[in-house]
Amino acid sequence: MPQDTSYDVDLLVIGAGSGGVRCARIAAGHGAKVAVVEGRHWGGTCVNLGCVPKKLMVQASEYGDYVEDSHGFGWDTQAGAFHWDRLIAAKDKEISRLNGIYVSMLEKSGVRLLTGFARFEDAHTVVTTPTELAPNAEPERITARHIVIATGSTPTKLDIVGADLAITSDEVFGLPEMPRRVCVIGSGYIGVEFAGIFAGLGASVELVYRQPLPLRGFDEDLRVALHEAIGQRGVTQHEKASPTRIRREGSDLVVTLDNGTEVTVDCVLMATGRHPKSGRLGLENTRVRRTEEGRIEVDRHFETAEPGVFAIGDVTNHLNLTPVAIAEGHILADRLFADRARAWSFETTPKAVFFTPPLASVGLTEAEAAEQGTVDIYVSKFRPMRHTLSGRERRTVMKLVVDQATQKVIGVHMIGEDAPELMQGLAIAVTAGLHKADFDRTIGIHPTSGEEFVTMRTRTRVSGD
Ligand code: NDP
Repeated sequence: MPQDTSYDVDLLVIGAGSGGVRCARIAAGHGAKVAVVEGRHWGGTCVNLGCVPKKLMVQASEYGDYVEDSHGFGWDTQAGAFHWDRLIAAKDKEISRLNGIYVSMLEKSGVRLLTGFARFEDAHTVVTTPTELAPNAEPERITARHIVIATGSTPTKLDIVGADLAITSDEVFGLPEMPRRVCVIGSGYIGVEFAGIFAGLGASVELVYRQPLPLRGFDEDLRVALHEAIGQRGVTQHEKASPTRIRREGSDLVVTLDNGTEVTVDCVLMATGRHPKSGRLGLENTRVRRTEEGRIEVDRHFETAEPGVFAIGDVTNHLNLTPVAIAEGHILADRLFADRARAWSFETTPKAVFFTPPLASVGLTEAEAAEQGTVDIYVSKFRPMRHTLSGRERRTVMKLVVDQATQKVIGVHMIGEDAPELMQGLAIAVTAGLHKADFDRTIGIHPTSGEEFVTMRTRTRVSGD
């Protein structure tokens, strides 16, 4: 690749999260001279304050169930005490290991690492100032032919009295003690996942959300089943409610809801969305355009209104999921430095929510599909084999949404054990545009829950007529 020596580097990536790191490594692999600047954590939100620690905590929260379930299988196992401090220490150790892997992966790829907060001086020049990651780092000025903004997003708190008394997902992973009573506000991904984590770890949990059902945007059958599953996990749900204020009373926090209810807890977790982290970057020194909520506007090649400046991942508020940011970073690096057009199928991006039991989906919900045409719906609800002996009330729901005219499977949805693991394979089927007949001619694996997806013979209903 020809290098332009009028700049210090060919590519400067701001933010060493999932998308930024992938972009930097692929670009370096194509022969580009690359630098990455990071001010907080190597690996970004996913590794440090998101997917990775969250999943470890979900796993931690499920051991109590396994102990209880074992009784139905002839064991008389008893659970001992759970030690929050041990879990946090083990999780922190694993994350430090991953931070090290990220740094060494970048270094081995020949990427130059800069620590500090990056600010544009102009469209090709960035200056760094020291941050807590390396308080004594020297400020640097670096010029780059291309700059990628991959700064991610940050939690949004509701603007209510006492909001400062609430924590967000940024603080929840480092709480010094496990709260015994928790109020979780919001029933999106983070709210649902943390309601499950705290309930599984033995806390008393109250989940407050403004919709009649949790997880707006997911298929209605899954939302109904999740509502039931949240109740079965022992979580009190305050549906169609919003908090109006939070106050401290001694060591308690009291959350007042707009229906007059007061919820008294030790900890309030606000899981009310995230917003792009695009402030203080000096974008006023460029032609990069931001929306009012901070989203950086890009075209289909991730290029901003300033030629040569790009943005990927959550800062563009496209599909705020780690694998999407990774794909975007990869596509961009290939296009800039290998003149290669890599295609990813964003419209069939699978999603998962790690509640216990987890949910996963790919493609259209029944409601979305029915707006576009007539669809055949296949639904199967059953008690998974493990719980015939454990006695636990836990149902699995599986659903196929099939376009009636073409018989293509355009949506697959599941709540039940291993749903995210199963959905990855089903996402390939939906991305490949397979038909219901392809599912029907596939031999099942017995006995599994997954075989249900290839044995749904009888249509449950027709939608969108
Ligand atoms: P979400 O956008 O998923 O959910 C936000 C929740 O807050 C919703 O219940 C929403 O209600 C509620 N809310 C927003 N504004 C208000 C308001 N003014 N008053 C009352 N309630 C309000 O955000 P999260 O914080 O849960 O997660 C952020 C993002 O992180 C996700 O969208 C996802 O992209 C990513 N993520 C992905 C995970 C995964 O893949 N498993 C896990 C965790 C995060 P309503 O629905 O009514 O708008």
